[in-house]
Order: sequence, then C-alpha cells, then structure tokens
Amino acid sequence: MGYEMVIENGRVVTPDGEKNWDIGIKNGKIAALAAPGMLSGFERKIDASGKYVFPGGIDVHVHMDDLGAEALEDWRHGSFAAAAGGITTVADMPIDCVPSTVNAEAVRKKLDRIRGNAYTDYLLWGGLTTDNLSEVEGMLKEGAAGLKSFFADSGAEDFVRTSDVVLLEAMYKASEERFPIMIHAENEEMNRYYTEKYGKNNDWADLSRMHPEAGELEAVSKCLLLSELTGARVHIAHLSSWKSVRLVADARRRGVRVSCETCPHYLVFSENDYKEKKALLKCAPPVRDEENREKLWEELKHGNIDMVSSDHSPNYISENDSVCQAWAGISGIQNTLLVLYSEGFCRGRLSLGRIAGVFALNAAKLLGIDKQKGSIEIGKDADLVILNPQKETIFDRSQMKTKIKSSVYQDFHFRGRIEQTFLRGVRVECKEPGGRYICR
Ligand SMILES: [Zn+2]
Repeated sequence: MGYEMVIENGRVVTPDGEKNWDIGIKNGKIAALAAPGMLSGFERKIDASGKYVFPGGIDVHVHMDDLGAEALEDWRHGSFAAAAGGITTVADMPIDCVPSTVNAEAVRKKLDRIRGNAYTDYLLWGGLTTDNLSEVEGMLKEGAAGLKSFFADSGAEDFVRTSDVVLLEAMYKASEERFPIMIHAENEEMNRYYTEKYGKNNDWADLSRMHPEAGELEAVSKCLLLSELTGARVHIAHLSSWKSVRLVADARRRGVRVSCETCPHYLVFSENDYKEKKALLKCAPPVRDEENREKLWEELKHGNIDMVSSDHSPNYISENDSVCQAWAGISGIQNTLLVLYSEGFCRGRLSLGRIAGVFALNAAKLLGIDKQKGSIEIGKDADLVILNPQKETIFDRSQMKTKIKSSVYQDFHFRGRIEQTFLRGVRVECKEPGGRYICR
C-alpha cells in the first residue's frame, strides 16, 4: 500500500496518552498507524524524532471579522495565524462582521466571503437575537452548525441579546432538531449597574467588578435550567470563573446535555495584569483573581472544562481609551496550543493526553464532526501538528500572523515551538488557502 507521506519517529499524542507511532497518510486521511519503521511505500517522509505530533486543533469560538471589519482581521490572516498555532478547523462567531450572521442570507454572504480565503477548515455559528426565531430554519439550512446567543449585550446593533422567551423556544427547537446552542453567559443588568458604579474611576483593576462573577453564575444557572427542561444541547462559552465550571459539572452529572470552554487568557492572566496590559487584556467576561486562575487549571485537568477556545477577537488598541471605552476582545488564535503545552504540560498542570482532548476531540464532538476530525485515528483527516519540545517561542511581532500585530501575548516566552501544521495531509504554509466548509 502506498502512502503520500509518512511522519515517522514522532511521539503521537492521543487522549489516552502518547504512542510511538509512524503515521501513514493517503488521500489526505490517516491511513495507517504503526510501530516505527514498519511503513513502506511512501512518496515523502517527515522525520519527527524527538518531537510531538498533536491532532490539529479545533477552535469552536473565533471572530474572524472580515466582511465590513477587514481592518481588524480577515480570513486569510486569521486562519493562517490559526494554522501557525496548530489549529486546523475553526467555527466562526456571528458578530463582528457586517451584517451580523443572523439570517440565511447573511450565512450565504459569509460563506461566499470565506471560500478560497481560509487556510483552515471552517464552520459557522448563526446568531440567535431577540426577534429572529423565524430565521433559525433558514440559517441551519444554509449551513450554520448551531446558534450563538448572548445573555448580555453583544455590542452589535443588529444583534440584540436574546430574550428569555426566544431562548426557551430556540431550546425546544434545538432539542428536536439536534443542533447545539452556544451561550455568552453574563447578566446585562448587573454589568450596567456595576459599570456605572465603578466605571467613573477609570481604573483597570475595577474591570472584574464591572462585569461581576455573580452575573456569570446567574446566566450559567439559567442556561442549565432551561437546557434541563427542554433537553437542548448547550455549550457555555469562555467561562471566567471556576465556580461556574462547577455548576456545569454538577448539571452534567445529573444528565444535562452541556459542555463548556475557557480560553487561554483566563488560564494565563489575572486581574493583577490589567495594570500592565490594559486594553490588550480587556475581554468580556474579564479575567478574575489569581486563585481563580489556578483553579481553572484544576477544573481543566479534572475534565470539568471540555475545551479551550481562543475567542480570537482582535481590536485596535489606543493608549487613550478609557477602561469603559476600550473595545473588549483578545487576539490569541496563534497561542492556544503553546499555552496548553508550555503553561499546562511543562508546569505539571495538564497531561499531554488531556491536551489532545481539550484542544481537539471535545470540540469535534460539540460540532458533530468527530467522525472526520479531532484525533489521530485511522480514517480521520490527516490534520496534524508537529511541536518541537527542545525549542522555545518568543512571541514577538515578527511571529504574529494576524492582520493586526498586537497581542496580549507579545514577547511572551513559551516552551516548545510549533514547526509544521498539516491540513488533510498538506502542509499549510506550502499552499494557497485550501480550507473547506465542513458539514456537521
Ligand atoms: Zn467571542
């Protein structure tokens, strides 16, 4: 049997741990996993001696902007940055583009824009606003993988936060038609009250108080309750608080169909960093205290957090912006695997097997694409990343592949270096954008 390519002598990372396997690739798929030296009949080989081979990452939460927001990010830059960071499939959010992706026509428009411009494979989320229930059918038909709902203001005028009634109705629909709903869990009333109260101090250290942890806990509880009542599959985005992770874990134990994510910035930074990082670290919900940050690693280790998504959302950073004026959003799509490896594995907080789960497989399951992607198994797409543990990465501006060269990770020292990323067996850097739309 002939292979297009064999990756040999690598330490292959699976959710069950590392294996000494050679990987045979044929027609863009993983065709063989064998003991070192056992595969023959190949056109090309790559020697991965002393290196790790991870599954290509799946990021369920990115804002690629583009369409009307090209100045901030576009698919060519954003997806190339993703691939440079070891991510091979992304699911794009329905905001930060014009129009927001809240009806069938907007889904079509976005897919048209992406075609030919993505270096990774991709899926889209449709937006659930407060008055577009009649559009849900159409968005799903056009290709939306599920719905995204905001409990707090989204910041986009054409994406008003979902009312409780619309949410309940959408959950019944989701339960019947078996699509997931992703929730941005904050409480708008609390955000407004505390932003008014503390905003006038213009002190970055107050950001966590302006978007209180209580609001996240309340929103998560509501989401879990409605999911339990309706049977809808829900996914809770960017959890900032370990206490909300516990709510999710308890609900899951009693059978609620829920998963959750956190983001690298909640694992790396705390509110102590606002003083130095300012707007580069502004996100919603905000990062919390040091104790909370460390506890999130624990929850990740114990399997209570299912996945780590970048919530990549670049923005202009102006020195003059006040705490309240500054746009919330962190550019981080290139850093997820490096954070998990360097800050997680190298510091003894996370096993490599667990990284394979939270970086790829669990996200594939949420998106319903785990037969095709998410792990290094025979028959799946050859989406693979080679990481060299002997080297390090200093993430300076020359490394940034995003359109805007600013990031909260600027000059961050990571252990390990991502050397090569393959999408369906082809090295991403060596070709024109070859990303495909993936059906769930
Ligand atoms: Zn987001």
